Amino acid sequence: MSRPHHFSAGPAVLPLEALKKAQAEFLTFADTGLSVLEISHRSEAFEQVIEQAESRLRDLLAIPQDYHVLFLQGGASLQFAMLAMNFLHQHAAYIDGGSWSKKALQEAQKWQQTHAELRVDTLWSGKDDGYAYLPDDQLWQQLQDTLDPGLDYIHTISNETIQGIALQRDAESRVPLFCDMSSDILSRPVNVGAYDLIYAGAQKNMGPAGVTVVILKDRLLSKVKAHVPTMLDYRTHVEKKSLYNTPPVFSIYMLNLVMEWLQAQGGLDAMYGRNQRQAQAIYDVLDAHPDFYRGHARPASRSLMNITFTLPTPELEQRFLAEAAQRQLMALKGHRSVGGIRASIYNACPDDSVAALVEFMHAFHRQH
Ligand code: PMP
Repeated sequence: MSRPHHFSAGPAVLPLEALKKAQAEFLTFADTGLSVLEISHRSEAFEQVIEQAESRLRDLLAIPQDYHVLFLQGGASLQFAMLAMNFLHQHAAYIDGGSWSKKALQEAQKWQQTHAELRVDTLWSGKDDGYAYLPDDQLWQQLQDTLDPGLDYIHTISNETIQGIALQRDAESRVPLFCDMSSDILSRPVNVGAYDLIYAGAQKNMGPAGVTVVILKDRLLSKVKAHVPTMLDYRTHVEKKSLYNTPPVFSIYMLNLVMEWLQAQGGLDAMYGRNQRQAQAIYDVLDAHPDFYRGHARPASRSLMNITFTLPTPELEQRFLAEAAQRQLMALKGHRSVGGIRASIYNACPDDSVAALVEFMHAFHRQH
């Protein structure tokens, strides 16, 4: 059976090479005679997996030595609460850039409701403009100039998966900067040193669901609040190297294989080039027929990972999805909260999937 072209926003396509390798060693892993699913997370074989996953991630992202890399559970959604529970002492500010960063903000606000001494501000909101862009360099600079220098942190997002908008460059900040990179981590080189805490669910660019990567600066650990429950305290996972309790072994194992694949592709510079090329091919179709394919993102904030657009009528969108499915172009429906069409083209999306989509979009436009 051939693989369909799959544009899911996550869990998303994984590199076929990584899936095949997992298949080949599924029953007997690393001369143990057992599946990786059956061995102890404290066995030497698994320790090698988690160490390799960390070292490959460090290599790919050029993570500085004074940062910790954690493999946690609970998804990026748990990080929304966990980072506030650990680091919100007095005052934090949030970029409200779209559906996911809004959730992060709401989670901090919820925490604040039972902790009256805390202050949670919206530093900037894209809501009134329909979440069609994220701050550019100039706006980012203006926001920096207004910041309370005593802020515990500001929280931003690099890519809004649902709206299909992205920061085009690393954000920079005078106060600790936390960033949700769930949907574009490893899609381009980033300056990790510009952030104090980065987190990302794995199920888009890193592997299967079930593991969440957190990259945090060592000096932050001294600021962890007292009385955070053990499992929610970042220090627990730093001290125990993500092995305080049983970690999601299979997800970490798969993540390691995806990191191996990424290195073999030439790392993040190569991935970035490919991602730009693929995204441009689809945006070129939107730009060629702007009355028909109506891009949601302002051009200066276009995401390389999630391309969102609407068609002139809901009926045409239904037809688009149905005819696409006939050509094995799957999972193109926009998120239920915003509708329209969304093509997610993460790192592992093959060139021929993008080519097939582009060809279909031209044909559909001609026909309708
Ligand atoms: N942040 C972003 C940017 C996301 O795209 C998602 C999931 N799609 C989340 C957070 C939530 O992630 P999880 O499902 O791992 O909790």
